[in-house]
Amino acid sequence: MHVSEIIAGIFVAEVCPVCGLPKDLCVCEELEKQQSRIVVRLEMRRFRKPTTVLEGMDPKHIDLSQLASNMKRKFACGGTAKDGVILLQGDHRDEVKDYLEGQGFGADSIEVQ
Ligand SMILES: [Zn+2]
Repeated sequence: MHVSEIIAGIFVAEVCPVCGLPKDLCVCEELEKQQSRIVVRLEMRRFRKPTTVLEGMDPKHIDLSQLASNMKRKFACGGTAKDGVILLQGDHRDEVKDYLEGQGFGADSIEVQ
């Protein structure tokens, strides 16, 4: 490969806004998954329907709406991601913890209430 092509490739590569490394070298998301303090709890919302609430994930690092739609499909429930919080209809606390661990989140960083 010609040197100018290599340099062009470096400039074209997407760079992480947090660490400044190219996206394929960046480990910020992995670190964030290990360092997050995620709280999974149950709330009684309107009409006394139980809602599983996930808090503590940083929306700058983790695509919460993508995560919410994956979980909605997996647990066959309704839900939404808003203001850094994911809401899922019904009590899915244990499933959420299993699912997040499967996604690379540290088991110690998930607190189920
Ligand atoms: Zn990074």
